[in-house]
Amino acid sequence: MSTESVQEALETLVEMKNAGDVVAIFISDQRMPEMPGVDFLQKAIKIYPEAKRVLLTAYSDTDAAIKAINDVGLDYYLMKPWDPPEEKLYPIINDLLDDWHTHYTPVFKGVKLIGYQFSPQSHTIKDFLGSNLIPYQFLDIERNDEGKHLYAVNGLCADQLPIVFYEDGSYQVKPSISDIADKMGTSTQLTNEIYDVVIIGAGPAGLAASVYGASEGLKTLLIERRAPGGQAGSSSRIENYLGFPAGLSGSDLTHRAITQARRLGAEFLSPHTVQDIKEHDGYKHIILDNGSEVISRSIVITTGVDYRKLEVKGIDQFTGAGIYYGAAITEASACKDKEVYVIGGGNSAGQAAMYLSKFAKNVYIIIRKESLTATMSAYLIEQIAGTPTIKILPFTEVIEATGEHSLEALTLINVNTKETVTNPASALYIFIGAKPYTDWIQMGIIKSKGNFIETGRDLNSYDSFAKGWKLKRDPFLLETSCPGIFAAGDVRAGAMNRVASAVGEGSMAISFVHKYLAEV
Ligand SMILES: Cc1cc2nc3c(=O)[nH]c(=O)nc-3n(C[C@H](O)[C@H](O)[C@H](O)COP(=O)(O)OP(=O)(O)OC[C@H]3O[C@@H](n4cnc5c(N)ncnc54)[C@H](O)[C@@H]3O)c2cc1C
Repeated sequence: MSTESVQEALETLVEMKNAGDVVAIFISDQRMPEMPGVDFLQKAIKIYPEAKRVLLTAYSDTDAAIKAINDVGLDYYLMKPWDPPEEKLYPIINDLLDDWHTHYTPVFKGVKLIGYQFSPQSHTIKDFLGSNLIPYQFLDIERNDEGKHLYAVNGLCADQLPIVFYEDGSYQVKPSISDIADKMGTSTQLTNEIYDVVIIGAGPAGLAASVYGASEGLKTLLIERRAPGGQAGSSSRIENYLGFPAGLSGSDLTHRAITQARRLGAEFLSPHTVQDIKEHDGYKHIILDNGSEVISRSIVITTGVDYRKLEVKGIDQFTGAGIYYGAAITEASACKDKEVYVIGGGNSAGQAAMYLSKFAKNVYIIIRKESLTATMSAYLIEQIAGTPTIKILPFTEVIEATGEHSLEALTLINVNTKETVTNPASALYIFIGAKPYTDWIQMGIIKSKGNFIETGRDLNSYDSFAKGWKLKRDPFLLETSCPGIFAAGDVRAGAMNRVASAVGEGSMAISFVHKYLAEV
């Protein structure tokens, strides 16, 4: 839709809003007679905050465009001219529309989850649906009459919650994640009997390894215990990934990566947890949680890290009911106008605080240190300082979480003065320390003291390596102490803990897989 003037555009938008119409994308020229494009976008997004924003600029408008990235959350600025449009215009618009579409929930025809807001089972289902980018509507039984009506007409009762209703009219009572995956068709039937490479864990490292493995003609299988994306999938905005000046959300990156891996021919098996690896006759046997086995000639372990548990009274009781490990973006809207706490001083905690501040009345960041400077990137510290509803609580720890059915209050202690205070709290998001996902590995892969997987030359410092390594060559850079088993990303000892480095290592791992396969 195009208009003759800015005024006409703004009037039309209001009429459309009243009629319940939806806008996916605004494309505005920066140089217009009535007002600059940035000003128009500022007005337009008040009416349609979810719409994507594109500014058309001349070379000399670059500064205005960069400023607009912050001022109006600009998604893209397009330099004029854009000839040929097939190369320089349409792909960009298509990408933005795809992104928008991923998050757009049409008037509900899809999956409906009925449950209690503060039920750990409901949270697990929301987390699974959200992370797998399956659009769903959550009907909180205590606030939403539609939910009650839906289960009542089916002769169900509150004891059977959570219930998932599907688009075809069928439903599942208290379903497990695999029940839902089977129903939604996200579980895959494997097509190869023996894979060239199996990649365990679909975070950025695993997704990159799958893209390279499949594109280079290897029979590639990616196995994921929960949903693709890993830690990065829970990031509300990754600002330091090369090529995305306005940042991109973890779910966008994941959506693009999994689509790319599948298009190139990688198979994807999820939700399935790998429970062990065994070796017979030179083949690697990957044992899954349902007892079945997958056979492969090589393996790349990209299982990343998880948050450490906070061992404090009340935390376990309310986990999933007001207390969440990691970003739990699915629960953020329930924080509207509430007091919300975040524990941790790293970038992930900072990003979560920024995201939650869009909803919460106040967000408190609890840290043991004096300030965030040693642990958080400067750009995030700056954003936090410019957000008056985010407050930092230095020298502080949580000593108790209390409530009836869900979290209601937190008792905090000042570690210097030992003074305690109990404050109302509706949600607590925990971002402390990283524990590698390696407990499941029973075979003798050498791990560091912190349980991260050792690779390459670093293995030489272990006595057990010299005894166990039987090949004439040294291990490849990302190879573990077991030939043909590689590790990449955050699970690897000495990793950089960044999206870009995980992607880099995942891609590199495939070149070592080729070398290994050439010698067996
Ligand atoms: C909230 C948040 C924000 C972040 N923001 C940024 C940022 O802005 N910029 C940046 O550079 N970095 C950021 N990071 C760090 C970055 O996300 C990580 O460094 C990166 O995701 C590591 O990728 P990975 O593939 O090695 O592991 P992960 O992302 O941890 O993925 C590992 C995957 O393996 C799966 N898995 C584990 N065990 C098994 C098993 N036994 N079987 C099957 N699957 C298994 C997990 O479910 C997971 O999906 C952020 C992290 C968080 C948590």
